[in-house]
Amino acid sequence: MTKEEKLHQLAIISDEVRKCQRCVLFKAATSGVPGEGDVDAKVMFIGEGPGFNEDKQGRPFVGQAGKLLTETIESLGWKRPDVFITNVVRHRPPENRDPLPEEITACDVWTDKIIELVEPKVIVTLGRFSMAKFISGATISKVHGQARLSNYKGRQYVVMPMFHPAAALRAGEMMSQFKADFKKLPEVVNMSIDDLVPPLVKKEEPKNDVGPNQMNLI
Ligand code: SF4
Repeated sequence: MTKEEKLHQLAIISDEVRKCQRCVLFKAATSGVPGEGDVDAKVMFIGEGPGFNEDKQGRPFVGQAGKLLTETIESLGWKRPDVFITNVVRHRPPENRDPLPEEITACDVWTDKIIELVEPKVIVTLGRFSMAKFISGATISKVHGQARLSNYKGRQYVVMPMFHPAAALRAGEMMSQFKADFKKLPEVVNMSIDDLVPPLVKKEEPKNDVGPNQMNLI
């Protein structure tokens, strides 16, 4: 698919997201927030859901957490428009509550369409709800910053779990871990999967088992 065709498809998906009523979240929201960025991005960030500012503007990560995310992306020498940014739910949960499992499942149709369209090499999950889609049974405090191979819907991705920037803003210790994890991203993006596997695989602790299709790479 050419870039023009991908942009056309993204516009169609975005229109459908704004009209979507697959779960109750659309009822209290001002606007749907499909996601934005380069349709050919190597890196896709997937967060939790729109907050107050995102709901008003119809764009992902434009509040304080978004400012931190953008600054941290730029600290790598990257530009925000060169990555793709979206969430696991695309209408704002009331009072910024956690998205419910059925709401995340309802929104999977859009998550999957966007991933299939962009085909990123690396998916960075921001927060535990996004992480749980790709790494089952893991605790974010134990696996953050560790890139893994994840077989998602029949295709392999490198998945990098990270804390949500809003969590980093709330706790100083998490902020330093968030920034340290981010610094690993360029290396992860530039490595081939074959290069990564032999020296970096390590055995999973039983309680941190992430499933048969996933390997811990760092
Ligand atoms: S959150 Fe997702 S599934 Fe729910 S109404 Fe919005 S776009 Fe549709």
